[in-house]
Amino acid sequence: MKTIIIGAGITGLSSAYHLKKDYLIFEKENVPGGLCRTFNISGFTFDFSGHFIHLKNDYSKKFVFSLLGKNIVAVARNSWIYSNKSLTPYPYQANLYGLPKDVINDCLAGLIQAKINKILKKDNHNKKIKTFKTWVLETFGEGFGKHFFFPYNEKLWTVDSSVLTDDWIANFVPQPDIKDIINGAFFKQQKTYGYNASFFYPKNGGIQSLINSLVPKVTNLKVNSPVNKISLKDKTVLSNGTKYSYNNLISTMPLPELLETIIDLPKDIKKLKSKLKWNSVTCLNAGIKTKDIQKDKHWVYFPEKKFSFYRTGFYHNISGNTVPDNCSSMYIEASHRHNASTTDKSIITDSLKELKNSKILKSGENFAVKQVLHIPCAYVIYDKHRTDVLNKINAFLLANKIHSIGRYGAWKYSYIEESILDGKATAEKINNKS
Ligand SMILES: Cc1cc2nc3c(=O)[nH]c(=O)nc-3n(C[C@H](O)[C@H](O)[C@H](O)COP(=O)(O)OP(=O)(O)OC[C@H]3O[C@@H](n4cnc5c(N)ncnc54)[C@H](O)[C@@H]3O)c2cc1C
Repeated sequence: MKTIIIGAGITGLSSAYHLKKDYLIFEKENVPGGLCRTFNISGFTFDFSGHFIHLKNDYSKKFVFSLLGKNIVAVARNSWIYSNKSLTPYPYQANLYGLPKDVINDCLAGLIQAKINKILKKDNHNKKIKTFKTWVLETFGEGFGKHFFFPYNEKLWTVDSSVLTDDWIANFVPQPDIKDIINGAFFKQQKTYGYNASFFYPKNGGIQSLINSLVPKVTNLKVNSPVNKISLKDKTVLSNGTKYSYNNLISTMPLPELLETIIDLPKDIKKLKSKLKWNSVTCLNAGIKTKDIQKDKHWVYFPEKKFSFYRTGFYHNISGNTVPDNCSSMYIEASHRHNASTTDKSIITDSLKELKNSKILKSGENFAVKQVLHIPCAYVIYDKHRTDVLNKINAFLLANKIHSIGRYGAWKYSYIEESILDGKATAEKINNKS
């Protein structure tokens, strides 16, 4: 085979689809899909937490629509933040209205001070990459940092805001102008913000429907086939005891694992691996035998430390087909440092208690069906080493005809649409060269 693809998640499948021929895909699990897999348990449809389709690019829109056909719904986001015993709309920075007065005062006073600092050029405006902490203080001020950005992001990423850099925010953190922020502090905000203000989701079958509609369009897919060894010298991979040769290798497995799998990796590249940092996420999926829990809400962010999770969402409010009659379903996401020990039992009991404390669940509303999913490599940590280390590793891999792509291959914070496009771009590069 000319090209070997490691992983049949959305990136690997998109690569295969766009390569068109001369490829072989190895998937270690018994089904394709990666993080875009769906589980049907007692009539509930669960994903790896919310997996919604955000489409900005015309090509990927066409691609997804042609795959899903009529099995797709468009959804206008209805997301919230729970803090200070209040539920306020997302994003926090445009929706202070409804929070306690002292919180609003802190946020607006900090914002004004940040704007004055900017005018007086007391900020780091000309620095290319800043820490996330500096960026928040300069953009929104101390109050917004203290009440939302620092606690929320430190919980999600599991590192201090001064360790994180600001080179991931462009796509993910809405930046309303000062007029909108002030307006949203005194009145109900009318505007929406952010990359996911509206999104798509399969009507039936969860996010795996996207995968299921793509799989018949690719060939040469081997499941239950982990790639255990890669030899740069021989240009071979080893899977289930057999060696396979390649001209080009597309890897979508997490980058540190790829480096670990290469048997003849030079020492200097091996050293760089220790600089790659990431966190893990547990996703608790729960089925509840009560109708319409948190009616119409799609998901809620929890910045406060007293909650062990950072976000919870409601599958039934995205598509009613995800639950049996008269039932609701939720996902509850919690981050952990990589390798931190957690038990499924404590995740379930703590989450239930905390959801009742916040009145997201009422007494009598319990988890009738439970599933705990572990995502060992969930969010790549953007710190001061990441860009430099990544550039060196990628230059080395590409020189050896290895294209490490997708959210974990390219070691980035990205989503399904980008994975589709990454696969397409890499396939075209390989096809054009050959
Ligand atoms: C908590 C969470 C929520 C998210 N929510 C959204 C969302 O709402 N919308 C959105 O667009 N994106 C979301 N994402 C991002 C989305 O999941 C990813 O962008 C996308 O699924 C990445 O696909 P991938 O194919 O690159 O990687 P993966 O899905 O990880 O696929 C990699 C595949 O490689 C296989 N593999 C690994 N090692 C080997 C090996 N040695 N041999 C063979 N096979 C191997 C794996 O089994 C897997 O199937 C979310 C991510 C997380 C963590």
